[in-house]
Parts: sequence; structure tokens; C-alpha cells
Amino acid sequence: MPAGSDADVLVVGAGITGIYQLYRAREAGFSVQLLEAGGGVGGTWFWNRYPGARFDSESYTYGYLFSRELFDEWEWQEHFAGQPEIERYLNHVVDRFDLRRHMRFDVKVRSAVYDEVSGRWTVTVDDGTEYHAQFLVAATGILSVPYFPEVPGRDAFDGEQYHTGLWPATPVDFAAKRVAVVGTGSSGVQLIPVVAEEAASLTVYQRTPHWCTPLNNRPITADEQAKLRADFEAMCEILNTSAAGFLHTPHDRATFDDAEDERRAFFEAMWTSPGFSKLTSNYTDLLFDPAANAEWCRFLAEKIRSVVQDPKTAEKLTPKDQRYGEHRPPFVTGYFEAYNKPNVSLVDVRETPMLRVTAQSIETAEGERPFDIIVWATGFDFGTGALLRMGIRGRDGLALEDHWADGPATFLGVQTTGFPNFFFPGGPHAAAGNNPRYNGDQVDFITDTLMYVRDKGYDTIEVTAEAEERWTSMVDRWANKPPSFGKSSYYFGSNIPGKPRRYLLNAGGRPKLFTEIDRVRDTDYKAFVLSRSGNVSAVRAL
Ligand SMILES: Cc1cc2nc3c(=O)[nH]c(=O)nc-3n(C[C@H](O)[C@H](O)[C@H](O)COP(=O)(O)OP(=O)(O)OC[C@H]3O[C@@H](n4cnc5c(N)ncnc54)[C@H](O)[C@@H]3O)c2cc1C
Repeated sequence: MPAGSDADVLVVGAGITGIYQLYRAREAGFSVQLLEAGGGVGGTWFWNRYPGARFDSESYTYGYLFSRELFDEWEWQEHFAGQPEIERYLNHVVDRFDLRRHMRFDVKVRSAVYDEVSGRWTVTVDDGTEYHAQFLVAATGILSVPYFPEVPGRDAFDGEQYHTGLWPATPVDFAAKRVAVVGTGSSGVQLIPVVAEEAASLTVYQRTPHWCTPLNNRPITADEQAKLRADFEAMCEILNTSAAGFLHTPHDRATFDDAEDERRAFFEAMWTSPGFSKLTSNYTDLLFDPAANAEWCRFLAEKIRSVVQDPKTAEKLTPKDQRYGEHRPPFVTGYFEAYNKPNVSLVDVRETPMLRVTAQSIETAEGERPFDIIVWATGFDFGTGALLRMGIRGRDGLALEDHWADGPATFLGVQTTGFPNFFFPGGPHAAAGNNPRYNGDQVDFITDTLMYVRDKGYDTIEVTAEAEERWTSMVDRWANKPPSFGKSSYYFGSNIPGKPRRYLLNAGGRPKLFTEIDRVRDTDYKAFVLSRSGNVSAVRAL
């Protein structure tokens, strides 16, 4: 086997989580190495370079907060930056902190095997090179394995085909082309208005309509830039403690506290508010009272009807069996307006199922439509997709796929029992909301834990079954709040045939994470078994 490096901490994944983990581990004095399947830095923002790809977290709340200098020197251009700016930012961070020399690109981890005698991991990549490490940290992302639906003939198509999550680095030319976009989730609805401007014709194949609302993006003015810098500490205080990791101020009223005209005015204000504030600053009972949720949805349905000129199309674009927040809400710019263009049409595949792809066309129950380009905006194997494809083997050869056959079991969304010295920040059971904030909390906790293990003279650390059970049952319990929400969203893995319907986020959010982390510290890491490798008698008495 070709020999790779030997490191204290081996990180997999060069997204926003892996970069931060690499930085923190190196600053803590560990020798480090990072492996990345892609050809560059960025993770999500390396792979999803489709036209229209952008944040729906505010740029300055998504970026790193660990360095005041970094925050001061990077001026985000827009409240919700587009993919090119985000990719530039992450590359800037890597170079500014001299992290690139620890990174290897174009290497996909195929297996990671724990050796109980040495207490170390052997990680093998696709060219057969082996890496060895005491601690393995898989920052492999929750939305990093693109999913293609099983449509017969997909490989037989002679034209160009793309997945939004595997977009090529060279621009795709839609001009004068007949284009199909399959899927109207968060990526599809960002892409569709851009393609509608360029293509000769655009046919959108929709399975599930979503409650899309305006992103309300705009450039950051010079005054706002100055204020962001002046308010840095106050902003960090909010971002480091808020449940969902956003700056948005929670509302203090419930839906039916207001009279109808006040409610209408509030909903209008929500409609013009930025991004996720429609969820985080809306009426307090939005997610908990089905009648309150229905009131907001009625307002949104009216908005769709007021924008989309063709009533039949408007009807198809309006969700019928979905509460707001039950699925990941997409935020859009010119999405509904795109359907008023003469070159854009919508096919509802629930009414007219997609039968097959042929060499030149997509065939539904209504017949064939010829295309030059098909774009699959069909999402990801959410939550566990990357981890379950890494060939991870723990104690006694235990396969992670077997351990998680009924869905993931974790402690804090960072460790699972049977896999000592293995961590997975930004994986299943993390939290929900503005991703880097709670993934960052996990990285901070992992780094503190690695230092604890080292400084106390231990070699291995593994979460107890009891702690794993406590956290996992909390996740499952909170998944049923609100009880009116079904399990039809990808949060439950429902877009992947055969995947167990288990909740893959942590609806208890950061408050639960913080409480449990405090408990770990207060009880001197009682949730874990610590040992010196090869010396069973040195296992700490619990
Ligand atoms: C289009 C899109 C828009 C989004 N917008 C937002 C947003 O506005 N706000 C928000 O909070 N979240 C958003 N998200 C969620 C987003 O995934 C997270 O914000 C964040 O990028 C996750 O970072 P990460 O480092 O944990 O994972 P990723 O960015 O997914 O990085 C994981 C990396 O691991 C690598 N990897 C995986 N398996 C292997 C392997 N076996 N070997 C080697 N390398 C491997 C992958 O190639 C990838 O580069 C968005 C997601 C998508 C897809």
C-alpha cells in the first residue's frame, strides 16, 4: 500500500466544518491532516456551483467568528452571498491561516478501520494510499451525497445532464437550449429563474411544491458594513447563543393575539423580511398551532395566486398537504414570476408521473418532451449519506451501516458507541438552523475533548451506550414536536427509497446541545469511557 501520513487528527472533508476542525486541532497542538474528495476547498460551496446558488443564511452570520481580524478584513458584498463569493471566502480563510499545506484534494475515503490494539484508525483512499491517525473526524456533510431518482433510462440520455450538487466548474450554456429541471426543492427553485432567462424553453418537473417565500437579498451598504464591524461583539453574543444561530429577533405575539388586519400587516412585513426570519421571527405559535400555521399558509397561497398569472399553474405551485416549516422552506428570487414567461412550463409528476428518460426526451403519462439538457435538482441522501459510504469499521469490525441500520444513534451528534476516537461534526443529530454556528459548537466541543484525552494521559475515548441512548431518545422525542408535522420531509430521510424514517436533525437545537455539553464537563466526562490503549486495566472506573 502507498503510505500516506500519520497524524494525531485526521479530518475528512474541506467544507466549512472540516476547515474549522483542522484549524482548531492544529492550534491545540495536534499534528493534522485533511482529506477531501473534491478538487478544492468549500464542501457544499465547491460542489453546488449551479447558477443561482447562494446563501439563505445572512453572509456575515454564516462566516467564521473565531477571528476578529478575519471578520474585519472580509467584506461580504451581499446580505445573502452567491456561491462564487462564498467559495472565494473559504479559500481566503484556508490561505490566511496557512491550512492548505495540511490538505489533500481529489482523494475519496473508501474505508476507515479502527485497530483495538493500537487504538488508531487506518484510513484508505481510492488510490489505495493508507493514512493513520489516533483521532478520525469525519466532517463529511449532511448534504454532500447527491441523489438521483430511479427513473428508467436516465443513463441513455444523449444530451447534457447535470445534478445541481455536482455542478461542473465550466459554465453550462443554456442559450437556445430546451432545458428540463427536475425537482423544486431549495436548489431547483434557485436555479429555475436563472435558466428561465436564458433557455429557449424550460420545463419544470415538480413532485412536491414547497412554501417558497422571497429571500429579499440586497447589497450590503457602506453604512451597514461599518455597523457590522462596530457591532461585532454584540453580534457574536447573539449568534453564539441563539437557538437557531441567526440574528433575527423572535416575535412576542401569537397569531390570534392580533386582529385580522394587524395579522395581515404583520404577514406582509414577514413577506418582505430577509430569509429565514419568516420562520424565526414569525408568530410564536407558527409551528405549534395547526390553525396558526394554516393562517400563514393561506396568506402565502394568496401571494402565489397574485404573482402567477395562469390559475392552473398557481394551483399546482401551491402546497396542499404541507404545513409551513414541515419541510425545509426555500427562499427565492423571481421564482414564481418565472412561470409567467412564455418559455416556461410546469409538469406535476404526481398528476402525470415520469415514466422514463429516452435518448432525446423525458416521457410522462402525457407523452414525450424532447430536451437538450436535463438538470436533476433532486436533492441529497441527507444526514447519514456520506458517513454510511465511507466503509467505517469500529470495535470488533462493527460496520457503521449495521450499527445504524434503523437510523443513526449518537451522542451530541458527534460520537457513536462502538467507534472509539471517531467523531462526526455536522453529521446527523447536530441541531437545526444556521449550520456553521452549531457545527462550530460541535467542533469546539470535540477539540476540547481531544485536549482532555491527551492532557489526562488517555489514548482512547468512546461514548457510553447509556449517553448515546439518552441523546438519541431526546432527538426522537423532539422530532414529534410539533405533533401535526408528518415524516414526509427529507429531515426524516423520506426522499430516499428504503431509508429508515428517523429524524436526522436535532429539533432540541443548540439549547439541548449546550445543556448536555455542560453536563459532560460538570461530570468530568462521565458520558465517555476513557482508556489507555492495549491496557484494559487502565480503563477509567466510572
Ligand atoms: C445548495 C445549498 C445551499 C445551502 N445553503 C445553506 C445556508 O444558506 N445556510 C446554512 O446554514 N446551510 C446551508 N446549506 C447546508 C450546508 O451543507 C451547510 O451550511 C455547510 O456547508 C455544511 O458544511 P460541512 O463542512 O459540514 O459539509 P460540506 O460542506 O458538505 O463538506 C463535506 C465535504 O466532505 C467531503 N467528503 C464526503 N465524503 C467524503 C469521503 N468519503 N472522502 C473524502 N471527502 C469526503 C465532500 O466532498 C465535501 O466537500 C446549504 C446546502 C446546499 C446544498
